[in-house]
Amino acid sequence: MAELFYDDDADLSIIQSKKVAVIGYGSQGHAHALNLRDSGVDVTVGLREGSASREKAENEGLAVATVAQAVAGADVVVILAPDQVQRIVYREEIEPNLKPGAALVFGHGFNIRFGYITPAAEHDVLMVAPKGPGHLVRREFADGRGVPVIVAVEQDASGSAWDLALSYAKGIGGLRAAGIKTTFTEETETDLFGEQAVLCGGVSQLIQYGFETLTEAGYQPEVAYFEVLHELKLIVDLIFEGGITKQRWSVSDTAEYGDYVSGPRVITPQVKENMQAVLADIQNGAFAKRFIEDQDAGAPEFTALRAKGQDHPIEPVGRDLRKLFAWVKPSDSDYVEGSAA
Ligand code: NDP
Ligand code: MG
Ligand code: MG
Repeated sequence: MAELFYDDDADLSIIQSKKVAVIGYGSQGHAHALNLRDSGVDVTVGLREGSASREKAENEGLAVATVAQAVAGADVVVILAPDQVQRIVYREEIEPNLKPGAALVFGHGFNIRFGYITPAAEHDVLMVAPKGPGHLVRREFADGRGVPVIVAVEQDASGSAWDLALSYAKGIGGLRAAGIKTTFTEETETDLFGEQAVLCGGVSQLIQYGFETLTEAGYQPEVAYFEVLHELKLIVDLIFEGGITKQRWSVSDTAEYGDYVSGPRVITPQVKENMQAVLADIQNGAFAKRFIEDQDAGAPEFTALRAKGQDHPIEPVGRDLRKLFAWVKPSDSDYVEGSAA
């Protein structure tokens, strides 16, 4: 059984006594910075020159500085820029300005696990990773609740890195729900596997194949869209609430029987072998190397794959149908290049 931590296990005054620099003010950065500020922590947001995020942070009343300035004054530096730029920001702006003995906090273990960032031995290296998108982390905190976090210590230079990690987790509201003890290796490998094999990669491909199978057999694309994409949310909500058992309890007996006899025909043992191969490429660093090399070359493969995905025939069908749904706000349905609005 995993080791769990709650608010009573942490001392908020530890993080309240530190100067904290949050580098990046995106999905996670804005949530960490605002939640810490509201927990009485001294926070400065570090951003690059001309950053589009600057105005947003300033409008919230946060202190904003360059990355170098923010790091120079900080006891705790939280690295929440995108994973693929972290090693460059670390090398050029963080490491040269880091105070002796300052602690480093990450929201995901990628750069430490795969050796793209190697902090000097004198620094505590921690991870506090909310298990939810940043906007939920902020919203739940503002409503008096919290999103669960996973917490890890890679390097305990001070001997009190765990106390700091738990204090930080309490500061962002995570221990109102729960903190789960993990390691950088476990977090990184399971996070990448989950998103690749199941949540993002697996589900997207499953939907696209389902849509192609129906439309190629002559069924109307709009009807196919409802059956293989739209209704997915209803099913996932049931699984989220009560596991696969609740989902099977709620659907018709016809659907439940079809689940048992046809699920294993679609997702065969071969799929599990494919998953094991994906996991091996995560564990041996091949996925990380491919991602970072592509990013370094200007992301040609990433850009081409994104364009191909956006051109799949299910996308225009969905765009037109969603205009008819009173419950989807246009701003939720619009797609902005590079990020879901
Ligand atoms: P975002 O893509 O939302 O971060 C964008 C922010 O980083 C912007 O403020 C951007 O500023 C800034 N930034 C970009 N490049 C630089 C740079 N060179 N120097 C300084 N700042 C820069 O990141 P996420 O919040 O998605 O991810 C941050 C970390 O949190 C990652 O490690 C991720 O894996 C982890 N994480 C993310 C989750 C999520 O919900 N998204 C969930 C759990 C963990 P600008 O305006 O200048 O572009
Ligand atoms: Mg991830
Ligand atoms: Mg149906």
